[in-house]
Amino acid sequence: MGLSERNIIDRIAEQQSAVAPDLLMGIGDDCAVVKKTGELVQLWTTDTLVQGVHFDCRWHPPHLLGRKAAGANISDIGAMGGRPRFALLSLGLTADCDEQWLDGFMAGFLSALDEHDMVLVGGDTVYCGERIMVSVTVCGEMYDKKVCYRSAAKAGDQVWVSGFLGDAACGLELCRKGLHDQPEYASLVAAHLDPQPQPVLGQALADSGCVRAMMDLSDGLATDLAHICKASGVGAKIDADLVPLSAALQKGAEMVGMSPLKLALSGGEDYQLVFTADPAQGKKLQKVAQSVGCDVHCLGRLVEGGGVVLCQGDGRRDIGFKGYEHTF
Ligand code: ADP
Ligand code: MG
Repeated sequence: MGLSERNIIDRIAEQQSAVAPDLLMGIGDDCAVVKKTGELVQLWTTDTLVQGVHFDCRWHPPHLLGRKAAGANISDIGAMGGRPRFALLSLGLTADCDEQWLDGFMAGFLSALDEHDMVLVGGDTVYCGERIMVSVTVCGEMYDKKVCYRSAAKAGDQVWVSGFLGDAACGLELCRKGLHDQPEYASLVAAHLDPQPQPVLGQALADSGCVRAMMDLSDGLATDLAHICKASGVGAKIDADLVPLSAALQKGAEMVGMSPLKLALSGGEDYQLVFTADPAQGKKLQKVAQSVGCDVHCLGRLVEGGGVVLCQGDGRRDIGFKGYEHTF
């Protein structure tokens, strides 16, 4: 087809012209936002994993695949600051999916829901030919006034991320090299197979009112921060020295022959949060993150204009939308 995922979503959004008075956000953020009675809103998100594209059964055990399918959606709810509540699970199965596979998958899927007090309320089951396909839809809720949209960032804001970046992308490369069982790379491989979304941090930050824009990191900071910049009409400057890299990533990147910084900026599926805040809120938001046991790092600033610029020594280069993107 030659179309990028972004082109396709833009075309769909242009063709979708219907409106509803209670729809606060449609296509274009981590979740759709629908006004409910009182001060509450409902959040809606969906995410699909396809065998051979998003996961490989040679190294992805079914229970961790179940956790990841739930986690990708829980992450999007947390990225708005919401609490995930209900899930729908659509399974496209192949002839290879026996009882053992299904029970393993469901044990993982339900364990992830259980950790967040969520309930599986329905879904669909179909035969899917050669490749397994797992599609999950999650509904969440939160207070109207606390929702953190991608479009709320302002020039002058600091840019923050949670956790370390790039571990999941490096973990995938290690799996591809057949190194998924090596204990020294366990944390990187786990970051790919069993990512840890951050809805508790997202809720705490949104509740505290000290952040403006927020989203989750699924396609790499270079692309995801570019979404915030585009939606908010601002640009970003990122300091290469401030990008949080784990010690494990430095080692793993050497093994796979890739730059740790490139993995951190362009690699997908970290499921950490990127958010912006007035510099005066820096101390407060660090305390909020600490109170829920999370590390957050400031790695740049928003400026007037557009684009995402990486500052490395005297060098400056535009990395906007240079993260993971599938072309069709
Ligand atoms: P995320 O990475 O946060 O899950 P995506 O990049 O998948 O977000 O999607 C961006 C936005 O486009 C979201 O609002 C999503 O709901 C919407 N979107 C993606 N694909 C479609 C589609 N086929 N039809 C309608 N909306 C879509
Ligand atoms: Mg998202």
